[in-house]
Amino acid sequence: MAIIVQKYGGSSVADADKIKNVARRAIRAESAGNQVVVVVSAMGKTTDELIKLARGIEENPDEREMDVLLSTGEIVSSTLLAMALRSMGAKAISLNGAQAGIKTDSVFSRARILNINPRRITGELDKGKIVIVAGFQGITDEMDVTTLGRGGSDTTAVALAVSLGAERCEIYTDVDGVYTSDPRMVPESRRLESIGYEEMLELATYGARVMHNRAVELGGVYNMPILVASSFNDNPGTLICGGNPVEVANKVRGIAHDVNVAKVTVVGVPDKPGIACAIFEPLAKAGISVDTIVQNASIDRVTDLTFTVAKSDMHKAMKVIEPVARSVGARECSTDTKLAKVSVVGAGIQSAPGYAARMFRALYDEGINIELITTSEIRITCIIDEARVGDAMRTLHKAFELEQGV
Ligand code: ASP
Ligand code: MG
Repeated sequence: MAIIVQKYGGSSVADADKIKNVARRAIRAESAGNQVVVVVSAMGKTTDELIKLARGIEENPDEREMDVLLSTGEIVSSTLLAMALRSMGAKAISLNGAQAGIKTDSVFSRARILNINPRRITGELDKGKIVIVAGFQGITDEMDVTTLGRGGSDTTAVALAVSLGAERCEIYTDVDGVYTSDPRMVPESRRLESIGYEEMLELATYGARVMHNRAVELGGVYNMPILVASSFNDNPGTLICGGNPVEVANKVRGIAHDVNVAKVTVVGVPDKPGIACAIFEPLAKAGISVDTIVQNASIDRVTDLTFTVAKSDMHKAMKVIEPVARSVGARECSTDTKLAKVSVVGAGIQSAPGYAARMFRALYDEGINIELITTSEIRITCIIDEARVGDAMRTLHKAFELEQGV
């Protein structure tokens, strides 16, 4: 019998009726002849509310206590789903992360899964039960509860699918799958039937919020097929898998955007060994992740260094950077928080020339100024004025003919 892992996000388990809907879907998958493991997120905005509760007590709550607190959100939804399944006559059991055998490192609030001992899960499956696992959590060797970082239930689901040798991991959410762009901003956006792991990873990392990027990465490493679909209808969704035989003809597959971008420029830094290290080491120590980094060619041994961070990290970054900039003899630090990233992604970009030029032409024709450019083998990203992000996405969608299927 094949094992299927299904994951339902917060909006799919937001209230009692939605939990019953999930129960019916799990029973349907079982009736189709599968052993079914269901991973759940916390109900609706529960995790945000738990964070707010903790901050009402203390601004910087202890990380270990915080992880136990946040893990309870998924425990609530998993137990309610087990009750719903039982009330419908199915055999079901809920397990928390520790009971499910999910071992992690001890980095609270963003722990990584080290290994999974699936014995308890397979034992319960063999007793004919639907097994519900609380997502987003695990346990350390010292028996401390950890969480995997926001959105981490996707990673729980893919990791379990891999460790159980599942046939497929199904991620159910409130949208119909992966789109060529954000349908709220680009009405011509089209659902993709399939997409490769690498392409999905770039889209997820550069702003498409449909799936957690760590889960996509894990799926790619173990070649686990991941179906992203809606829990509210039976539309076919998008399959994330190794190749994309269906839609190879169009070499740009999707456009992602992210408005959570702030830019810092350290102006007039001396061009000599050790400066980049002096600036970026303290940022790393402060736990600030820096995204795009650009250093200009120097004139008279003086250069400018520009980098971007999440808007929410901006103040923290400036606190770290200002004294450092002074100590290395930089002229000043300037910032801009009204920025956005637009990225075009497609595996075909690496093998065919001209994609960057086409992107820049489309933005130019729309009168959009490009502040910074970065690329990977399969992605081109431009940082632009936040106010123009919708225009940029629409013009790029058109320029790369994404409204047309194959
Ligand atoms: N409940 C957690 C969060 O909101 C994990 C998840 O939903 O995947 O981030
Ligand atoms: Mg969530």
